[in-house]
Amino acid sequence: MPAARVVSVARRSPAQRGGIRVGDELLRIDGRAPRDVIEYQQLIDAEDPEVEVRRGHEQLNLPIRKLAGEPFGIEVSSALFDRVRTCDNHCEFCFIHQLPKGMRRSLYMKDDDYRLSFLYGNFTTLTRFTELDLERILTERLSPLFVSIHSTDPQLRAHMLRNARGATSLRWLRALLDGGIEVHGQIVVCPGVNDGAALEATLAGIADEYAEIATVACVPLGISRHTTEPDLRNHSERDAQDVVDLVEEWQGLFLSTSGRRLVYAADEYYLLASRPFPAASVYEGFPQHENGIGMARAFEEAFRGDAAAAFGVKRGFFSWVDGAPPEGYRARRSSPSNVGRGTATCVVTGEYGARVLEPLLAQDRFASEVRLLCVRNSFFGGNIAVTGLLTGVDISRALEDEPRDHRYLLPDVCLSEGKFLDGMTVADLPRRVEVVPTDGMSLRRKLEEPQADGGLVVLPARDTATSAEAGAALGMPR
Ligand code: SF4
Repeated sequence: MPAARVVSVARRSPAQRGGIRVGDELLRIDGRAPRDVIEYQQLIDAEDPEVEVRRGHEQLNLPIRKLAGEPFGIEVSSALFDRVRTCDNHCEFCFIHQLPKGMRRSLYMKDDDYRLSFLYGNFTTLTRFTELDLERILTERLSPLFVSIHSTDPQLRAHMLRNARGATSLRWLRALLDGGIEVHGQIVVCPGVNDGAALEATLAGIADEYAEIATVACVPLGISRHTTEPDLRNHSERDAQDVVDLVEEWQGLFLSTSGRRLVYAADEYYLLASRPFPAASVYEGFPQHENGIGMARAFEEAFRGDAAAAFGVKRGFFSWVDGAPPEGYRARRSSPSNVGRGTATCVVTGEYGARVLEPLLAQDRFASEVRLLCVRNSFFGGNIAVTGLLTGVDISRALEDEPRDHRYLLPDVCLSEGKFLDGMTVADLPRRVEVVPTDGMSLRRKLEEPQADGGLVVLPARDTATSAEAGAALGMPR
């Protein structure tokens, strides 16, 4: 079995005292080979474990002196030490199928692994789930998990996943709920496929069969210009209005029967439908924030000073994959980059991000001090407009025409391990940029930082109104 490699060892930690070095391969702990970081954590939590490592051609047994529960002090190269379980579906809406050729190999990885669901919030369809997986999840209480539902109609679900097992694999959802596991669900709504009456039937099916599910997110289909699926189409404004109406109707039903709203429409639907985002309280704690549910509202709240709403990006960078990015084709095309070009601080963002930030900044004390550089996503094209899918090449193109002596802020949602999706880094950009955590509070703090050249003058605060037309967060990681 492949082993995890140690990538860092904390100074004065039990690992360092016990002789663990960067580059060692972690083979066994107390005689057991951990399959993933979950097992590793359980094993290494023991008192005085014996750790077996491979170092070059040598195999070493290292007795470690530590207390039970004391941090060991290493970082490993991968969350899964054995193979990632890959997906055997062929969904027509899969965004990985819509990636251009020639990107990093890891970006084409289609995982369907419950461990990545637990660790990073990736959605799993459960089509490769087994009895052993269930046993482990229940025994080790691996909760919460994230499950792609799409439809509760067996035939329609199998059709959407292009996998016969899609018709039956939701039985595992039932088993997880029976076992007391917290599950969050997702429906990728594809116009003409599982919207309208089919979506209503799915919500009714959830109420009937999976009522204990924690939340269900309805997210719109995203289409890149590299799609090879001729039958996929974008949501129209009317489609989006229908989804919002249906979701809000079912929120009322769930609220009256179970005291919680359960189902939510993604932020993009409110944008497309030209509807105001619901109040923050409607999101009941933002449990699917990183799936684009309430992200814009949370960003606004955090920007205005509510620390509890400053979620930032916590989950895996590709956690949006089942949902695929939302629609940007209706994003306002007049670029906010033309606004206030003389101001010295500039926030780089995607088309959706600009639609949230523009009214937010305009109503704030930064109105005359900060401008936006709205970057169009030409790399993916289609309806892709979220900041999280901006690539280095598009940002470079936008920055090339910008003044050299200005300050550029870039949300960290664009980067994964320091790289854009196209492999570029911020060092490759033609202007120096400062990377900012993707939440409203971090952006505000960054804007309030005094600049050496006094470039940003902070004016007295004034009252701000709710930006009903705000479109999407600074960076949606989907
Ligand atoms: S959308 Fe998800 S489940 Fe479907 S093919 Fe892609 S990776 Fe697999």
